Order: sequence, then C-alpha cells, then structure tokens
Amino acid sequence: VNNTNSELRTVAVIGLGNMGGPLARHWLEAGLAVRGFDLSPIARAELQTAGGQAFPSAAEAATTADVVVLMLPDSRVVDAVLADLHGAGAVSAGSTILDMGSSEPAESRRQAQVWSERGVGYVDAPVSGGVRGAEAGNLTVMVGGDTDAVRRVEPLLSAVGTPHHVGPVGAGDAVKALNNLLSAAHLLLTSEAVLVAQDLGISAEAALEVFNGSSARSGSTEVKWPKFILPGTFDSGFAARLMLKDVRIATAVARSVGRPSLVGDTVEQVWARAAENLPAGADHTEIARWLNTPATD
Ligand code: NAD
Repeated sequence: VNNTNSELRTVAVIGLGNMGGPLARHWLEAGLAVRGFDLSPIARAELQTAGGQAFPSAAEAATTADVVVLMLPDSRVVDAVLADLHGAGAVSAGSTILDMGSSEPAESRRQAQVWSERGVGYVDAPVSGGVRGAEAGNLTVMVGGDTDAVRRVEPLLSAVGTPHHVGPVGAGDAVKALNNLLSAAHLLLTSEAVLVAQDLGISAEAALEVFNGSSARSGSTEVKWPKFILPGTFDSGFAARLMLKDVRIATAVARSVGRPSLVGDTVEQVWARAAENLPAGADHTEIARWLNTPATD
C-alpha cells in the first residue's frame, strides 16, 4: 500500500463480520493502527489475534480514529451505531466516517448532512466481490462523496480493491444496489434455467458449460453455481436476507426517479418469499435449493 496520506494513521472498524474482518486485516498489513468493535466476542477476538485492538463498545473503538469505517448489515444498524458515537462524542471534527456496507442512498445523504454540520466528512463506499474478494483484497469499491473526503480515505480503499468514485454521497450505495439487483436477477433466472435443463435430463454441469461459453454467462453461471451450489456447500458468505435488502434498495431507488422496474419488482417478490422460507442465516446461494423444493406457501 502506498499510504502517503500522513493524516491517516488510525482506523476504527465497526462491524467485523464476513466482510469487516478481512478489511481490518488488510489495513493492519498496510501498517495502520486498527481499533475495532463488533457485537460478537468471536469477531473481536479475531481482530486481536490479527494484531488489532478490540474494544467493548463502538464509541471506545472510534475515539482517536482518523477514519471510522462501518461494515454493518444495513442503514438501520448504521443509524443506531452513529447515534451512539454521537452521544458519546466519539467522532471528532476533522475525522471521516466511511460506510462500506450496502446502505440506503437517502440515509447516507441524510447522515452526511448531519455529520458535515459537526465538521466530520462522510463517504459511502460499498463493495462487490464477496468474502473471497475481501480476503484477496481485490474488491470493486463504489464510492460516493465529495472529492476532499474521498481523497482522505483513498489509501484505505485502494488497500482492499479498486475504488470507482461514481458521484456525491449516496451514489456509491445506488450503484451497489443496482449491481445487486442485476446479480439477484441472474442468480434467480440461472437457477430456474438449470433446474429446467435437469428436468429435461441435461446435467447441470453440461448446461452451465454451454451458458459459460455463450451469452448467458454471468457471475452466477461462472462462480456461484459451480463453486457454491453444485458442491452443495452454500457457503459464499453473503446472506439471503442481505441480498433481499439490496434488491429492495434498488427497486426503491428506481421508483424514486420515476422509473419503476417491472422485472426488479418481480425479483424482489421472489427473493422475499425465499428469505421468508429459508432459515434465518441462510446463504443467498440457497435460493437455488429453495427453488428446487415444493412450494410451502
Ligand atoms: P455479517 O453479518 O457477516 O457482518 C456484520 C457484522 O456486524 C456482524 O459481525 C455483526 O455482529 C455486526 N453488528 C451488527 N450490529 C452491530 C452493532 N450494533 N454494533 C457492532 N457490530 C454490529 O455481514 P457482512 O456479510 O460482513 O455484510 C456487511 C455489509 O456488507 C452488508 O451491508 C452487506 O450487504 C455488505 N456486503 C456483503 C458482501 C458479502 O459477500 N458478505 C459483499 C458485498 C457487500
């Protein structure tokens, strides 16, 4: 990492789960001091093992950090954690909040406004590439924010992947949600197509080999089916409920600009039924298993 930004020495990471854990490890390897908090004691212990410093609360972790990174499930949790940080006076003027979870664009814009009044910068920088991308440090990072704030967090972003500054605050979140709408749609339709092929006596492997050499190729045909669905491991590390959240953000964004998505609304309905019927922590690749079981509703 080329960390020439001398203002950036200490980072706090709130949310050390499937994505936040590997991010924190990359920043430690880059020579930064990493403070962290997660509700899970296991996640906190893993940060300590990796050489970071875990704290018993988000506020204690955030104190003294130049950048406070959030890698939390959704905007509701982001709002609760930021309210705590504000209540404790844990984020000082001149520092920056970097939300790397997949949040709601309107919520990020609202937070950015509130924190700018306190002299704190705000950048949304959700990622794509999954747990494997987080571990390898080759995520695609979709960045929204003003140029100065984005420049301050750039060393963190380029240490974990390739940043794309797509617009003002909320723009990163919007592109991320649209990306996952596309991803949710093609995983669903790929799964239906493979199941139809199997019913016709064609093996899933044979169908996928053809799709991957043809115009149906996607991350679902190239990665998700071969790596997580066919072997029956369903362990991509991205939960079905998080995918549903992202699809809902995307369809709401589409409606907000007066361009409702007909296909997107159907994709949302199917993912909502799947998420209701799958166990609480189910991986999103289990949509294929759910499609293959007789309807229960
Ligand atoms: P995760 O559930 O593995 O991690 C979230 C962590 O936040 C958990 O460890 C949880 O204990 C912690 N947490 C929840 N509430 C908290 C609170 N109040 N204070 C402190 N910690 C709290 O989820 P993840 O897969 O790491 O996803 C994080 C974000 O990244 C989500 O917005 C998700 O949509 C997005 N994302 C995930 C992936 C993926 O492949 N897993 C890929 C791209 C984007």
